[in-house]
Parts: sequence; structure tokens; C-alpha cells
Amino acid sequence: MTSSSVPSVKLLINGEFVESKTTQWRDVVNPATQQVLARVPFATAAEMDAAVAAAKEAFKTWRKTPIGARARIFLKYQQLIRDNIKELAALLTAEQGKTLPDAEGDVFRGLEVVEHAASIGTLQMGELANNVAGGVDTYTLLQPLGVCAGITPFNFPAMIPLWMFPMAIACGNTFVLKPSEQDPLVTMRLVELALEAGVPKGVLNVIHGGVDAVNLLCDHPDIKAVSFVGSTQVGTHVYNRASQNGKRAQCMMGAKNHAIVLPDANKQQTLNNLLGASFGAAGQRCMALPVVILVGEAQAWLPELIERTKTLKVNAGTEPGTDIGPVISCAALERITGLIAKGVEEGAKLELDGRNPHVPGYQDGNFVGPTIFSGVTAQMTVYREEIFGPVLCVMQAASLQEAIDIINANPNGNGTALFTRSGAAARHFQEEIDVGQVGINVPIPVPVPLFSFSGSRASKLGDLGPYGKQVVTFYTQTKTVTQRWFDEDADGGAVNTTITL
Ligand code: NAD
Repeated sequence: MTSSSVPSVKLLINGEFVESKTTQWRDVVNPATQQVLARVPFATAAEMDAAVAAAKEAFKTWRKTPIGARARIFLKYQQLIRDNIKELAALLTAEQGKTLPDAEGDVFRGLEVVEHAASIGTLQMGELANNVAGGVDTYTLLQPLGVCAGITPFNFPAMIPLWMFPMAIACGNTFVLKPSEQDPLVTMRLVELALEAGVPKGVLNVIHGGVDAVNLLCDHPDIKAVSFVGSTQVGTHVYNRASQNGKRAQCMMGAKNHAIVLPDANKQQTLNNLLGASFGAAGQRCMALPVVILVGEAQAWLPELIERTKTLKVNAGTEPGTDIGPVISCAALERITGLIAKGVEEGAKLELDGRNPHVPGYQDGNFVGPTIFSGVTAQMTVYREEIFGPVLCVMQAASLQEAIDIINANPNGNGTALFTRSGAAARHFQEEIDVGQVGINVPIPVPVPLFSFSGSRASKLGDLGPYGKQVVTFYTQTKTVTQRWFDEDADGGAVNTTITL
């Protein structure tokens, strides 16, 4: 059901923000109040085709735009985002629920990618080897692919779209973005600012929708590459479908990240870090820490961990001092509370029950308070499934190696963290852990854009990550040129039928 009296979210096709002609709409809802903020269309097939066609046409000129001209757009864009960061964060909190400071962080982490896109001049340089044979040089061109597409999740509606279109466009591609239908408003404001910064018409297009929109992007013959961030189930579908259609695909997916705490760690720092990473953003981060393994004597820290967790404040993201805002939807709330019930049923010890918190003034919000289970085993549903809520599973191990074995047996490989004062333990962990992003006394080790996001195993399909150097490889075709020039007066030489230069 949708409300027709609220503003409608527009499509962006060929530089114009247009009203969809669809009959299918969905409400964008404030998760702290259930207020309907806007309605978002599920674009028609004709509208989606028009967006791809606009991107295809714009590619003809955009691919030849000088690299400096492309870079300067992103220099301007980063300034516009910076100037509007408070407004962007407020919009984000209204539709997504996270606290205002966290929403600013969401925008800021995306802004860092935009800053990096402004360095495209040095990022998109090829290589040259002189005299690979007599009078022959070989060099590479990193050429844009054409129309690229991006499909994004609800939990970072600023950062994740900014992982994608700035780098794709800076490389000389054109783009069709499909934001999460749950919170598209901040994404659309960022898109408006991109046009204001000078992204030409047709270079960036936006369609809205769900399954049909995603399938169209995976199938459309004029789309060359698809970037996806979201759940493992949908990401696997996108990877398979886009790959079968001959496209490049990169899919960053679900997670179950573990922290290991050794007894020699700095206790207060470690507990602070665990609280922030396990319960911040109501646990709705793919790099959250929903599992902690307490090793040896660190198991005695559990009571203090529980007491400290009780001090976290559950409230609307707009209220000062809030630690944990609402989860994205009523359905998410129901799923999370269902999983908590399942944990109890399967024998985990519910040390702290965050269900049905009292949040004065926000009785209708999708709130679940911080929840802690101890005695969790690898067979339990609360361990096997990504809860994506403020629920922490505490496990025990007798040694660092036993803890590493638990993590390596888990199929996911997005992120992990070790807390210790021992350099030798840290080095052993770094060597032996089979996870793509590793923190040593850093709870959420998301790499800055000088590097690339590098989740692994079941958390990722495709070998190249978003942003950083890897995404320049993803968004470009390496063309290798081998050339020789004959002197005017050289004779024709002899025919050579062997494989030589
Ligand atoms: P989701 O998979 O439900 O949605 C992601 C996108 O896919 C959205 O644009 C949505 O419209 C679309 N979609 C949803 N269902 C679909 C279907 N059946 N067929 C085709 N398309 C569909 O993910 P979400 O709930 O928005 O986001 C949370 C998930 O994203 C979590 O699993 C989280 O771990 C993951 N995530 C991963 C990373 C990472 O970098 N690894 C980062 C952020 C979020």
C-alpha cells in the first residue's frame, strides 16, 4: 500500500528527473516513527530501457572526455558533498534510522571514495615496456567498458552508491544505478549533487525497483559490468545471472564477523571497541562484529561486557546521545526477534534480552535493544545466520588457534578482528586467518579508498573489490598494444613463419 499524498521519488534518465508512469509504488518509511516520507516507483521496462539507452549514447562522448576534465568533476563533487553533509545525514537518518553522527560517517566514507576518484589521472595509467623485441614496445591502455550498473543495499545508502558510480564514471564509463527501494532519498540527493558538480546528461542514470529492475540490469545486452552489494542470496543470483550473460560481476555479500579477545588485550579499549562494533548502527553493518570469542581468562570479562552493554541508549537516531537507533523495517524487527527466540529455544544463554525496549515518544519505532547470548555453538541458528541486528553471540575458546579454527570453519570471510598486546599473536593471526579484512585492535577494518574493500569466501563473488585500485581494473578493459615502426628506408626483410616478433 502506498500513500499518494507524499512526494514521489524520481527516476533519472538522460539528465532529467522524471516521474515514473508505473502503477507499482512502495512507501519510504521513517523506521523510528512509521511516518511515510515519500513513495518510490518500481520503474517500467520501457523506463529502464530508456535509462540504459541514455547511458549507451552518452558513452560515445564521455569515453573520450579528457582525464583532467573527468577528475575536476569529482573535485567539485567532493566539495558539494562536504558543504551539504549535515543535510545529507539528516535525510539518511530519517529514512534509514541510524544516529545522526553515524549517518555523517556513512556520507563521509563515501566522500573519501569521491576524493579518490579525483585522482583518476594517476590511477588509470597503463604500463610500458621498451624494446620487448628489436624495435618493439608493448604498452597497455586501461579503457572504459561502456555502460556499468550498480545495485545497492539499505544499510549504507550514501557510502555504497558512492563506492560505485564515482569510480566507474571517473574511468570513462556511464552508469545506471538501482538504489535500495527501502531508503532511496539520500542516494537521490547525492545524485542531484553529482549533476550539479558537472556529470553530463546520460552519464549517470537512476532507476528504482526490486527483482525486475535487478534482473533487467543482469540481462540487458548493453550493460557490460554489474556491481552489487547486499545479501548473499541476492548477490549469488546477481553474480550467476550477470556472468551467464557475459558481464563482469562483483558482488559483496553477507557476513558473520568474529572478534577474538586474548586475555592480554587492553580490557577497557577492547570492551569499548566491541560495544561500538557489535551494536552500532543497530548491528546493520556488513562489517559489524556479531560474534566474539573470548579466549582463556578473557572469558571472565563477560559480566563486565554485559554491564557496559546495558548502558547503551536505544532511541531515535535524531535524539542526542542515542547509541542504537531503530532497525530498518517492521519485517526486519520481526526477523531479529524471531531469531532471538530461536536462540533461546536452541539452548543459548540469553544474558541480555533487548526485545520490546521502552522508547518514550517513539512507541511505533522498529526498536530492538542490545542483546547478548553466551554459550553459543557453531550449530545454533543464531550463529549460522546473519542476524543483522544488535545481537552479540559470545563463544569461548581455550587458545588463539582454537578461535582461529572456529572462524576458518565459518563460510563467511568479510571481516575479523583480534584484540591483543602480543605482536607474535597478531602476526600468527594475520597469517592463519582465512578472512579478507583483518583488524588488529581495530574492530571494523574497512580499508580506506587507497586500498580496496576485500571481503572473501562466501562474503564475495568476483575477484575484484569495490573502490581503490581493484575497481579501476574492474571498470576498465586492459588493451595491450605491441608496436613496431619501420624506418622509411628499411627493406622488406624475409618472411618469418616462426613465432617471434
Ligand atoms: P538485499 O540483498 O535484500 O538487497 C540488496 C539489493 O538487491 C537491493 O537493491 C534490493 O532491491 C535488491 N533485491 C532484494 N531482493 C531481491 C531479489 N529477490 N532479487 C533481486 N534483487 C533483489 O540486501 P539488504 O537487506 O538491502 O542489505 C543487507 C545485506 O547486505 C546484508 O546481508 C549485509 O551483510 C549486506 N551488505 C554487504 C556489504 C559488503 O560489502 N559485503 C556491505 C553492505 C551490506
